[in-house]
Amino acid sequence: MNDLNVLPAEISEESILAWRIWKADAEPRGITSNDIVYRLGSFAKWAKWPPKTKLEARCLALRSAKDRNVSLVVEGFNHEVPDALCNCGIYGMRTKEVLANYLANKEYNLGHPWTVVQQDSRGIIPPKIMGCTVFGRVSLWGEIIEGEDGYRAQYAYPYDLTVLADDKRIAASLREQYQVDVRIEIPQAQH
Ligand SMILES: [Zn+2]
Repeated sequence: MNDLNVLPAEISEESILAWRIWKADAEPRGITSNDIVYRLGSFAKWAKWPPKTKLEARCLALRSAKDRNVSLVVEGFNHEVPDALCNCGIYGMRTKEVLANYLANKEYNLGHPWTVVQQDSRGIIPPKIMGCTVFGRVSLWGEIIEGEDGYRAQYAYPYDLTVLADDKRIAASLREQYQVDVRIEIPQAQH
């Protein structure tokens, strides 16, 4: 917990903790670096979670309306994010059990490692590098809309992370990138 003092100062004191999953994505450390680091991404919208700074929600309905060049006013998309009548916002589940039930309903296998098959544009990340699923608690703050199972929020930052793979590189990299507690949980083999 002594890592907390290096979290982004912008996290609100009134943040709430919720549960969610991420994927750990391999990325070049920076534009001029050949180092590979792991950063968090959302499964649902392929959003990237920036290290050491908050993620701010955007409304994809708004973006889609812009792409289709339709009037935002007519379609009612010109709103703050999250909006009660939309489904935008950064999602977090109320409890770990709710998250587990949600994933079970999606037939999602938490313990399944996955493989990045695409090379990055500069060719630094070799094809087929392994990534994995990560779950944990997330700080949510700003505008928050509460639902039965959880929340949609304006701002978010990871609070603690559990790497679902026997991979110390991924855990160390996430710890260094996000400055939060990271532990490893080796998934039980499922037959
Ligand atoms: Zn929206």
